[in-house]
Amino acid sequence: MRRFLRRFRNHLTGLLRFSFDLLTLPHAEKREVYVCLTVDGDAGRNLHAIGKGFPLLLKIYDRFNLQGRVSWFINNQDEWTTHYPHFLEAILKRGDRIELHCHIEDLIREDDYHKIYDHVKKEKEVLERFCQDIIPGYRVECFRSGRFDRSAKMFAALEEIEIRYDSSLTHGSSFMIGERRIDDRDIPHSTSCYFLKPHAYKAPRKDQTTIVEIPVWEPFPRFKKIKNGENDAPIVITNLIHPFNLVTAGGAVNQLVRGYYQFILRLLMRVPHAQFVNLLEAGERWRKMHV
Ligand SMILES: [Zn+2]
Repeated sequence: MRRFLRRFRNHLTGLLRFSFDLLTLPHAEKREVYVCLTVDGDAGRNLHAIGKGFPLLLKIYDRFNLQGRVSWFINNQDEWTTHYPHFLEAILKRGDRIELHCHIEDLIREDDYHKIYDHVKKEKEVLERFCQDIIPGYRVECFRSGRFDRSAKMFAALEEIEIRYDSSLTHGSSFMIGERRIDDRDIPHSTSCYFLKPHAYKAPRKDQTTIVEIPVWEPFPRFKKIKNGENDAPIVITNLIHPFNLVTAGGAVNQLVRGYYQFILRLLMRVPHAQFVNLLEAGERWRKMHV
């Protein structure tokens, strides 16, 4: 209950601040703004989540004409490639992206580089093989870890596996994973993307590395703070939802969450000059400005 109240308060204050930012933003703005909608494809503990939640999300994205703009971070431990191949096919046929989502909290706790490397590499290859049957040469290039968990060894493995964009961090949040406190409060708001060094992954780098970090805004971007930042690179706003957020334990549509998510999409569409693109595209455009 306490966790629910905290989430509710976070959303409410985030929403109020974001709405205020939107109302007071000057419209003549030079910086480009990319909005990236991401879905973490887990069932969670809900058996109905993927089968019911996935078509609901597609319907919402169709209503908002967002074909080709969504990044689906697939957790294949929930067996998408065997149970829901038609969903994955639909994602690719819309021009959306399939990226990789791994829950490796146990491996991160064990802190064994080789175990992390082997697991993530295998999961990436399974997804790539599936996608390549539909789009020859397809490569999975973006990653998000489960529950935003991370370690230096995880990032070193991602680098080795040739993940180019990671989205496993947040802007300014502090939260618990098991017994461990994760603290992203020193990630500056004004930096919406940055080059990531595996061993100092929270500190933005001026020098280029192979991985670019695109943190998630949890729950809403502090738009005014980014706008006021010194950096003139494009602003990337990354939003996140799960199929299980939209489905109740009994398998019914969660109308409250559905309505709320659509409201958020409407708000994001009101951000001046916002372009909705997938995470890979936003990352590539950001990287181009830093070469
Ligand atoms: Zn997850």
